[in-house]
Amino acid sequence: MWVQIAIPRALMHSYYYPLWSAYLQELGADVVVSPATNKELVDRGVKLAAPELCVPIKIYLGHFHWLLEQPVDYIFAPRFVSVQKGQFFCPKFMGLPDMLRFSLPGSEERMLSPLFTSRDDSLDNEKCLRTVASRLGVGYLKHRRAHRNAVAAWREFRALSLQGADLNQALAGKGGAEVAATADTPLTVGVAGYVYNLYDPYVSMDILAKLRQMGVRVITFEMLPDDVLQSALARVPKKLFWTFSDKLLALGLWCLDNPEVDALVHVTAFGCGPDSMLGKIFEVDYGKVDKPFMTVRIDEHSGENHLLTRVEAFVDMLSRKKRRGERA
Ligand code: SF4
Repeated sequence: MWVQIAIPRALMHSYYYPLWSAYLQELGADVVVSPATNKELVDRGVKLAAPELCVPIKIYLGHFHWLLEQPVDYIFAPRFVSVQKGQFFCPKFMGLPDMLRFSLPGSEERMLSPLFTSRDDSLDNEKCLRTVASRLGVGYLKHRRAHRNAVAAWREFRALSLQGADLNQALAGKGGAEVAATADTPLTVGVAGYVYNLYDPYVSMDILAKLRQMGVRVITFEMLPDDVLQSALARVPKKLFWTFSDKLLALGLWCLDNPEVDALVHVTAFGCGPDSMLGKIFEVDYGKVDKPFMTVRIDEHSGENHLLTRVEAFVDMLSRKKRRGERA
């Protein structure tokens, strides 16, 4: 079997690419991805999407539409329902294949849409990907082996983040000492953002790199073990219900309590329903203890200079507070 399967470089790509690509390649597919997000892809998505949709979904539509014009056999577009017991994805993920089908005539025949329902985010339930193997005419044993190896590859990738690497660094195989913060890094800032916002340099304008260039050590949710996130969440009477929103909430709560963390930055995209609630919770909680908190809201027209100025001003303020001996 030789088929070419494309993965849009958007939404959960930065979190699951190592697993998906390992699986598809082991089935015998050639895996390609769409280019990094650029203005043309954003404009495509904006034209196709209903105006009230959030920016990341518009961008995803742009990537998918671009791939439809390429000579690839299939485009991988999973339906995410749950990757954690009792928690679910934002409804836009659940309806994504339907949204594509209705927005882009002709997409259905070329779409591979496995249904992801798993107990944890390693997608350890092999049934999730079985429909892909069946569609490609691959037998059960080969599928099982490919799934097992793909999950192992993904766990290795995640282990690098737990050593302090962000997803880009982990994707490049970096972890441990290679990414460890230097001892004299003066500031530590938690950055709460969905992976598809933070790791898309066009969307987030590479805020993690900008903070690091200013000498800030950054902490994202992927760097904290799941049990740490869960115990941070245990202090709230009610979780947010959506898996990744809860991961961000957990990071925010953990940073709030941690004296080594000087501030929290919430990176949010215009049009996100769950984030409007999450942002308010952060604002209130950080306000109560007078710990610095900043929201960076991104839309399809955000300008890099504006972001840089705001981030620089925020970091300056944190540095001044720290120098004065106040808690940042
Ligand atoms: S969580 Fe927010 S940004 Fe993500 S898909 Fe849902 S509405 Fe969009």
